[in-house]
Amino acid sequence: MKLYSDLARYQGNEALFEAVEMSIVSTLAGLPLHVHAEGLRGTGKTTIFRSAAGVMPTITRIKGCLYNCDPAEPHCPEHRNLSPEEIDRIGTEEILMPFLEISHSAKIGTVAGSIDLAKITDKTHPEAALLPGIIPQAHRGIIFIDEINRLADTSPEITDILLDVMGTKPGRVQIEETGLAAVEVPVQVSVWAASNPDEDPGPLSDVRKQLSDRFDLVIDMGRPDKVEAVAGILRQNRQRRTKSSTRAGLSHRGNEQVRKRLLAAAEMLDDLWVPDYVEDLLAEVYVKFGIESLRAVEAAQLGAQIRAALHKRHHVEVYDVVAVLPWALNHRVFPERLEEILTYLKERRFTTEKPQGSSRDRESQKTTGSLARIFGSGRVKSGPKETQPAPPKPARPISELAVDEAVATEGDL
Ligand SMILES: [Zn+2]
Repeated sequence: MKLYSDLARYQGNEALFEAVEMSIVSTLAGLPLHVHAEGLRGTGKTTIFRSAAGVMPTITRIKGCLYNCDPAEPHCPEHRNLSPEEIDRIGTEEILMPFLEISHSAKIGTVAGSIDLAKITDKTHPEAALLPGIIPQAHRGIIFIDEINRLADTSPEITDILLDVMGTKPGRVQIEETGLAAVEVPVQVSVWAASNPDEDPGPLSDVRKQLSDRFDLVIDMGRPDKVEAVAGILRQNRQRRTKSSTRAGLSHRGNEQVRKRLLAAAEMLDDLWVPDYVEDLLAEVYVKFGIESLRAVEAAQLGAQIRAALHKRHHVEVYDVVAVLPWALNHRVFPERLEEILTYLKERRFTTEKPQGSSRDRESQKTTGSLARIFGSGRVKSGPKETQPAPPKPARPISELAVDEAVATEGDL
């Protein structure tokens, strides 16, 4: 497996790099962001997803907890009723953010959970006898599913479980065993999936529309179509072979740099500035173009915020929205409609809505406020900050330049 930081980026795949990084940052901040990559075989979707396991940051959990309990917010059957002192006594540990895969042959017990035969001694406390499956064990991390369209076609039961996991943020998973009371645990996982819509059984939106709509962002993958891009990949391969020993050290350093960048972006999310006109614009697109799912604009809103943080900006720009909107709408509107929306954004001038700045209620525009509005309070740290957020740059009206820039540089990380 190639290292994430070594993978060649070109126009057809760079959006997926950006989406993957946005999802890791979002997951770190406690907000799942589900990403689906659709494309032909050989476009490298699976390689990008799997190699991203190498840039995962660490999380702190209660020592030995298979459900990855956050010491500040224990949720598992074993720890949720313990006092902070009792948790202190157990201790904590750092683990890599989980990255687990669900295969096509997976059974419900493997995915959700099953009876832990070694522990089943007391029928009056069935919760203690449950062994969490892949989903609860991926809490605060990522689940990857290759060929999700086939899974949706052949395993309707596992698809139903995914709908529950992805339906709300956080989601939930129910662990059931005959003879025992069902146990429900909250789960905060981002689901990553790949599929080839040209192969049997066809696009996920045709197989199970509901599941397709649960994905916040859908990335259309392309092959490199420029001579320079392909030549660049070939040269990188040769260099990797000829300098394999020195490259190894450099590459690990490359992954480490990505990890640091993601951690820094997650921290910036707390102090991010979201001007009202960004949300007004999304609302306008939603109503004017009759978008069916509110999830589309919510995904674009969250995506735009994370994109700004990844670009080391303390405020969201209209072109963040323009860059992520196609990914949030790919699977939710027809291509012609998406084209219309992008043209509309390009032609529209926002000069009349230029914010006045000083008279605005700054508190209400902070990301924490708007994230809490969407996903319910408590998921994002929103305690009082000692430092004031950086003042926003003067808002600039959207122009063709800004749109072109966003389109031309999407994924320019
Ligand atoms: Zn626990």
